[in-house]
Amino acid sequence: MKNKRFAIVLDTQRCIDCKACTVACKAENNVPLGPDNYRNWVETGKLRGTYPNLGQSFTPSQCQHCSNAPCEHVCPTRATTTNPDGIVHVDDAKCIGCKYCQTACPYNARYYNEEIGAVDKCTFCTQRIYAVPSQSPACVETCPTKVRVFGDLNDPNSEVSKLLETREHYTLAPDAGTRPKHFYLK
Ligand code: SF4
Ligand code: SF4
Ligand code: SF4
Repeated sequence: MKNKRFAIVLDTQRCIDCKACTVACKAENNVPLGPDNYRNWVETGKLRGTYPNLGQSFTPSQCQHCSNAPCEHVCPTRATTTNPDGIVHVDDAKCIGCKYCQTACPYNARYYNEEIGAVDKCTFCTQRIYAVPSQSPACVETCPTKVRVFGDLNDPNSEVSKLLETREHYTLAPDAGTRPKHFYLK
C-alpha cells in the first residue's frame, strides 16, 4: 500500500480563540493540566484598530511534523523518528529527557511530560487516525469553526491537496529549512 503524507491545513481567519482544540487534545492524549504541558496552542495577536472597531488575529499551532526535522537530527538515542507516513514520533521508552529536541525545535512544539518521564508533543492523534481511517485528530474534529483540515498530501483528491492547489498559503519559520507539514491559508 502506498505511504501517506499526512498534513494539516489551517484557516486562521476562522479561529475564535475558544481553545476547544487545546482542551480536546489534552483529554484525548492524557496531556497533564497546566500551561507548561501542551501539544497545541493558540497564539493571540495584538488588538488592532480603535474601539468599537477592533480586530485581533489568532494562530492555532502544534508540531509541524517537519520533513527535515531538527528534533530528530539531534536526538542522541533515536527516540524521535519519522514514520513512513511522515508523522514525527517520540518513543517514550527511548527518551532520556536530555531535552536537546526541545532546544532544536524552532516552533517550541515540545514539552517535558513529568508523568511519563519523556518529552511529548503532537502525534497527529495516531491512535485515532490509524484505528479508524475516516477519523480525524481530536483538535480537527472538535473545532466548532473548522479551522483545521487534516489529510493525505499524496492523494490529489484529498481536501488538503485541493486547498493547497487552489489557495495561497505559507508555513511558519520557512528560513529554518524544516519543511513543515502544517500549512496556513492566506
Ligand atoms: Fe481556534 Fe478552533 Fe482551537 Fe477554537 S478550537 S481555538 S476556533 S482552532
Ligand atoms: Fe520536531 Fe518541532 Fe518540527 Fe515538530 S515542529 S517535527 S517537534 S522540529
Ligand atoms: Fe493534539 Fe492530536 Fe491535534 Fe496533535 S493532532 S494537536 S495530538 S489533538
